[in-house]
Amino acid sequence: MIITDVPDRHYEIVTVGTGFGSLFFVHRLLQLRPATKVLMIERGPFRSWEMQVSEGHNSPIASHDTFESTGVHKKWNFTIAYGGGTNCWGATTPRMHPNDFRLATLYGRGRDWPVSYDALEPYYVAAEQIMDISGPDDLHLISPRSQPYPQPPHKLSAVDRLMKQAQPEMHFALPTARARVATRQRPQCCASLVCEHCPIGAKFTALNGFNHILESPNVLVLMDAEVLDVERSGASAVSGVRFRRNGREQRIRCDVCVLGANAIHSPAILRRSGFEHPLLGVGLNEQLGYAVEVLLDGLDTLDGSTISTGANYTMYDGPFRSEHGAVFMVFDNDFPYGLRKEFGRWRQTLSIRVSAADDLVDENRVSVNDQGRAVVHYVGHSPYAERAIDHYLASLPKILSALPVEEIVHRGYRRTQSHLQGTLRMGTSSSDSVVDSAQIHHAVRNLVVVGTSVLPTCPAVQPSLTAAALSLRAADLMFG
Ligand SMILES: Cc1cc2nc3c(=O)[nH]c(=O)nc-3n(C[C@H](O)[C@H](O)[C@H](O)COP(=O)(O)OP(=O)(O)OC[C@H]3O[C@@H](n4cnc5c(N)ncnc54)[C@H](O)[C@@H]3O)c2cc1C
Ligand code: SF4
Repeated sequence: MIITDVPDRHYEIVTVGTGFGSLFFVHRLLQLRPATKVLMIERGPFRSWEMQVSEGHNSPIASHDTFESTGVHKKWNFTIAYGGGTNCWGATTPRMHPNDFRLATLYGRGRDWPVSYDALEPYYVAAEQIMDISGPDDLHLISPRSQPYPQPPHKLSAVDRLMKQAQPEMHFALPTARARVATRQRPQCCASLVCEHCPIGAKFTALNGFNHILESPNVLVLMDAEVLDVERSGASAVSGVRFRRNGREQRIRCDVCVLGANAIHSPAILRRSGFEHPLLGVGLNEQLGYAVEVLLDGLDTLDGSTISTGANYTMYDGPFRSEHGAVFMVFDNDFPYGLRKEFGRWRQTLSIRVSAADDLVDENRVSVNDQGRAVVHYVGHSPYAERAIDHYLASLPKILSALPVEEIVHRGYRRTQSHLQGTLRMGTSSSDSVVDSAQIHHAVRNLVVVGTSVLPTCPAVQPSLTAAALSLRAADLMFG
């Protein structure tokens, strides 16, 4: 239930934020313990989907207005509103590769995750079911699955069909929360290609997928309230949360605090709260993105059933990962550079966007300034990611050899992948991480961190399905 004032001064669970991490945690909590008293505190406003579509943005609060930047300028993109990133996201939902969880052991890079692919697999299934993910079951060749995808895969484009024929074990329909078939809440995706504000509501969002949370009498959602800090009682417990709403500061007490304010604002809140740890806020990252347009000779494409249809894993896994990062290739069914101008060749264009796994760079970090505002200090991507893009570009003609390629036009590095992550990493001990494998702070045992902040390495794939699965698991471990 949305509220404008908190009726009680104490709640069993308080979540900071209402994005992916917090909502999936609360969803599982309500399944396990439906009578729990929960307060969700959200900095942004509640925007109905109709408002978002008609206004053309997800929130009136611009991401870059919520923090300061120093160092190299880089765009960090997120939504401050009820539902967080579930509003703006493109709804692409690949799983991580099993070897992503064992980078250090296998390739001597980064670090191993404190949770294995096998341990997370049932939670991937659960998150995919909640979001009615559409995907191809042969993707088990890359990421093994115990259950089929809830929805069939989207229709491949003509390009994807040729790629699939040539590389049956490397090219797949892209998994997505853009509905392939209508659900009770969502119509079938019609490839209208403006997913940040999908005009028909075909992709999963908090507004069409988690209504039961808003309707639960035990869950109160306080909007437009910025959490300033969490309050401690001694060294090993949080006692409550301090927030500001309409210029007025208030405090509430809680038994457990679930911190899900995104990978910039969660570490900033802990810094403002006086938490100290050498890795707190350290390693802010996202993949390095690159885009090409492929001009096709005589092949009409753009006939798939959603905005992006193909996933290619040719450059994803192998011993090369000790030298350069994994590259995840997404084949679009879209024309971001316009249709071809030549008569009759309008559809002979292919957009490919890739993301390369980065190494976490210690200098890329979040701190707070004297006024308590979040500050992002960024020095750039690692050479590990840059080398990955170089290798990809050199290999691309061979990867695309099944297609009638006329020309590959380099469209350059992407300004942002919109996947900020990694500033409160999870690990096995406080010497290598801020939170443990259950996402509980190593020292403060009633503080759980959710969302992409906890990712200890940078997977090449989009992170939100993994963040959702981790949240379901964290709730299970705490309350199951
Ligand atoms: C344009 C775009 C496209 C994307 N597409 C994809 C995609 O296709 N696939 C994919 O996997 N990922 C995608 N993402 C990334 C995805 O949105 C994030 O990975 C995901 O939202 C991270 O979840 P989170 O819980 O960490 O943070 P969020 O979902 O951002 O939630 C954080 C919440 O905390 C709130 N908050 C922040 N500070 C405070 C505070 N002080 N007090 C109270 N509340 C606060 C925020 O308003 C927000 O509601 C996309 C992102 C963008 C911007
Ligand atoms: S492709 Fe179109 S219909 Fe499908 S989710 Fe995106 S905007 Fe909605």
